[in-house]
Amino acid sequence: MQRLVLATRNAHKITELRAILAQAGLALELLGADAFPEVPDVKETGVTFAENALLKAHALAQASGLPAVADDSGLCVDVLGGAPGIFSARWAGRHGDDQANLDLLLAQLADVPEEHRAANFACAAALALPDGTERVTEGRLHGTLRYAPSGAGGFGYDPILQPVDETRTVAELTAEEKNAISHRGLAFRALAPLVGELL
Ligand code: IMP
Repeated sequence: MQRLVLATRNAHKITELRAILAQAGLALELLGADAFPEVPDVKETGVTFAENALLKAHALAQASGLPAVADDSGLCVDVLGGAPGIFSARWAGRHGDDQANLDLLLAQLADVPEEHRAANFACAAALALPDGTERVTEGRLHGTLRYAPSGAGGFGYDPILQPVDETRTVAELTAEEKNAISHRGLAFRALAPLVGELL
């Protein structure tokens, strides 16, 4: 069976992508980056989600000799000109401190009225082959930002984004509900047929 490697050590992301590839009718063996421990972490020097996703996918394809898939994502706030964007994971300074990132963003937007609180989660999904061939797709989940967090599900900025046509925050959706509308789900479902064409 054709093997494909996903640039993540997050078991949840691997399970999610496996389901999306299966739904697209692709019979592929999906491996996590853990299968290639010698691959160094890539510096995310790109200035867009697509550039960073492609950097990660190419690095893993080169190191593993297998087709590789990677994603990069974040929260884009209209009134902040698209920030935190690619800096979402380290907005408050320390990489991956979800609570500090969320608290800082809420404080920055404390006086911004409802009608100017539009934001979206964005995700770029990239496929790279060892020969340098590449494809990239994007997905966005649009909504508005709450004034206080609500809900215990998900991660990151989920407790403060209320999707368009929803009364709940993303953190109040079930995992299935989130996957059906999420930026990551959209980007990977758009990528799946391109994976099918190239592999
Ligand atoms: P990464 O692409 O997994 O590195 O995510 C970058 C950052 O964007 C995360 O640390 C979160 O702060 C934010 N982010 C990305 N996707 C989501 C999401 O689905 N919900 C909430 N926050 C997200």
